[in-house]
Amino acid sequence: MPLHIETPLIESRPMSAVAQRTVNLKLDALQPCGSFKLRGVGHACEVHHGRGARRFISSSGGNAGLAVAYAGRLLGTAVTVVVPETTTDRARELLRLEGAQVIVHGGSWQEANELAHTLIASGDAFIHPFDDSLLWTGHASMIDEVARTTGKPGAVVLSVGGGGLLCGVIEGLQRNGWGDVPVIAVETEGAASFRAATLAQAPVEIEAITSIATSLGAKRVCSQSVAYLDNHRIESVVVSDKDALDACERFLTDHRLLVEPACGAALSLGYSPTLLNGYDNVLMVVCGGATATLEQIRTWRQAQ
Ligand SMILES: *Cc1c(COP(=O)(O)O)cnc(C)c1O
Repeated sequence: MPLHIETPLIESRPMSAVAQRTVNLKLDALQPCGSFKLRGVGHACEVHHGRGARRFISSSGGNAGLAVAYAGRLLGTAVTVVVPETTTDRARELLRLEGAQVIVHGGSWQEANELAHTLIASGDAFIHPFDDSLLWTGHASMIDEVARTTGKPGAVVLSVGGGGLLCGVIEGLQRNGWGDVPVIAVETEGAASFRAATLAQAPVEIEAITSIATSLGAKRVCSQSVAYLDNHRIESVVVSDKDALDACERFLTDHRLLVEPACGAALSLGYSPTLLNGYDNVLMVVCGGATATLEQIRTWRQAQ
């Protein structure tokens, strides 16, 4: 039994009306810990659990850490999450609610991640937030569910942070015989590490993350996401923080679900009359995210 749930797949009438084509939503915001991350993280944790892991270690104060904490609780495995001081009280609270040991260390993710690595003892499994083939195989289950329900989409729209979701969705498309379905990879300005990689034809590090969409804030994408450029059609789209935030508000009104700006970035294409031109029957991955509150989204929006 996987740790994630099978999520609903529904048409968004409001998006279909604006974009003037069918837009279907894969509602992974409804995973128990609030994002698609549970698919891959849950799979990786189950595999490590089967190999006898006694503890899971994560250095993510975001949705990946939450998924590890959730998976550990369900599997009865101890979880330690090292987060930087910048991690919000809300995120720390959510991690503690899942029963994880939370260690606060350092001013940035790099420092937290370094400490997390020094803690790895024998019997511990480190769960990476995006660069691990176990994770991609777990994420791919999302496309298996689509194959069992609506059938082949004309294109898939998703957000890109470190590229784990992108790799998982492409693995899922290819293993279902849908290798010709294009993927539209959306990032925000200030977190566009996949765009940088497409221009350089290699994973390169961007200087700084300046977007408010922190869940997209990987300075460098995983190599596999760049390798897929050679054998899968991937279009890179970059939107503004404002576009992502507007989409969050609109989506809350339309579908009564609060998602992070990281997810709003992808959703903003469904609220554009032109950005989906050339594609029909679009599958929108509603990746979710549990770390933003409505107040926070409104405060960011006012600052735009
Ligand atoms: C992690 C995450 C992403 C990006 O996923 P990657 O696998 O890092 O590309 C997008 N949206 C949300 C809500 C996330 O938690």
